[in-house]
Amino acid sequence: YHTLRLVLGDQLNASHSWFKQHDQGVLYVIAELKQETDYVTHHVQKVCAFFAAMAQFADALEKAGHDVEYLTLDDTQAYQDLPALLYALCEHYQVDQFEYQRPDEYRLAMQLEQLRLPNEVTSQCVETEHFLLPFSQITTQFTAGKHRKMEFFYRDMRRQFDILMEGDQPEGGKWNYDQQNRNKLKKADLEAIPAPLIFANDVSDILTRIERHQVKTIGHAASALMWPVTRQQAKALLNHFCTYCLPLFGQFQDAMTGQSPHQWSLYHSRLSFALNAKLLHPMQVIQAAIDHYRQNEAINLAQIEGFVRQILGWREYVRGVYWANMPDYAQKNALGAQGTLPAFFWHGKTKMRCLSHAITQSLETAYAHHIQRLMVTGNFCLLAGVDPDEVDDWYLSIYVDAIEWVEMPNTRGMTQFADNGIVGTKPYAASGAYINRMSDYCVGCEYDVKEKVGPKACPFNALYWHFMARHRDKFARNPRTAMPYRNWDKMSETQQSQILAHADELLANLDAL
Ligand code: FAD
Ligand code: SF4
Repeated sequence: YHTLRLVLGDQLNASHSWFKQHDQGVLYVIAELKQETDYVTHHVQKVCAFFAAMAQFADALEKAGHDVEYLTLDDTQAYQDLPALLYALCEHYQVDQFEYQRPDEYRLAMQLEQLRLPNEVTSQCVETEHFLLPFSQITTQFTAGKHRKMEFFYRDMRRQFDILMEGDQPEGGKWNYDQQNRNKLKKADLEAIPAPLIFANDVSDILTRIERHQVKTIGHAASALMWPVTRQQAKALLNHFCTYCLPLFGQFQDAMTGQSPHQWSLYHSRLSFALNAKLLHPMQVIQAAIDHYRQNEAINLAQIEGFVRQILGWREYVRGVYWANMPDYAQKNALGAQGTLPAFFWHGKTKMRCLSHAITQSLETAYAHHIQRLMVTGNFCLLAGVDPDEVDDWYLSIYVDAIEWVEMPNTRGMTQFADNGIVGTKPYAASGAYINRMSDYCVGCEYDVKEKVGPKACPFNALYWHFMARHRDKFARNPRTAMPYRNWDKMSETQQSQILAHADELLANLDAL
């Protein structure tokens, strides 16, 4: 072989221009690596999903006539890390050239940029051809340390890619229908929620292998993995979403329910793993959804716009924030949060029904939808002042779609305000009233969402006021958070001190909640 090409586990893009030509002098390498299973303790379904998708991809490449070397943990265990493996492979195959696609994670990008190869081997980095915003345009859209309003970025992207546009105006006359996406699920709505499309990929070999290599994992292991691991399965999931979920996607986007284990993903697409592993291209997802919208009267503009905004807007936006701000972003802790993550985040046993449900579901499925991540677990960590390093690690561990470029701006930025407002202009802090408004969690909870103090009071309430009071200097002059301070100031001093004392007690005993 004259060239060795590396395909990372989240670069399973069969449409990449690499694969358009057959060159018997090119060897593709896809490798299971201990460095990737160990940088955090991953959910077992996440490890299985990546390894299964990588093996399927290698198989498909081979069938298409390419030379591929698939290396399991058994094959790579002798090498200390990825650079050591690549050095050995370059030597073994006597290649002149090593090529890789630009990694999406800073950690891997640095590792490959600083790679030391045998003397005669040159190294070349190419684009992944996955994201819509070219890498070179990130610095024109984003500046390190500065807030970039997502809405304006999104409008630029709508114009640039001519998505849902009528000339230079947004289709329907409005850019954003977010206001219409805030419905709570009523009892009658629950029965109509479509059952999620799940797969049954046999991952028993992978489970045995990761056990043999003592890979530490969390969560529920299933030998029949429900996540899509081939392009075909990913397309089936996309089609299922467009047919059954898209008509009500936006309407119930922020809703949460603990009523039925079969309704855990509601109207969400669960496409994040397929997108992040690059089994699907974001434009393919957007176009499929728009095609359904054009053909199906049951899908209105608010639903399709809400969905397009997530992928064309948010997904591209967080990637821009990540690359414009790394590596500093990973150190940010603007609110000086130093607390420890309560142990119940790892087992779900807490009397708080909202947290118990969101965490238990995450351990069982490696999935929670956006509002569970943002307003239940994320909000709790923010109010409790948990160290953002610990919060990042938890999110990076538990979700099947968790890769640092997308996980970190959402966690450290959006939920923890640790980036001092690079992502959001206000903290997503909320009391129990928000959770009660958007879910049925509070019915049947041991705590009372209406109470602020006392043993039965919903912990979110006192913690919320404690958070607002302790960060008054930072947020009181922010017009978006001025109103809560007016409400706080209307309370009597006695009431204020009772709430703060109760919150202090809670903060000292988070594990007991
Ligand atoms: P849907 O609700 O069906 O949305 C469709 C798609 O839009 C998603 O698949 C995703 O690709 C994209 N999307 C939606 N919101 C966002 C967002 N805020 N940022 C980036 N893409 C978005 N997403 C990840 O892919 N990986 C992560 O590690 C991750 N960590 C998160 C951590 C926190 C604290 C929060 C608040 C959000 C996080 N998200 C992450 C974003 C979002 O919650 C998930 O993308 C979404 O829940 C995945 O489920 P879905 O595919 O059913 O999404
Ligand atoms: Fe969560 Fe409070 Fe509602 Fe219980 S009462 S489910 S703790 S918001």
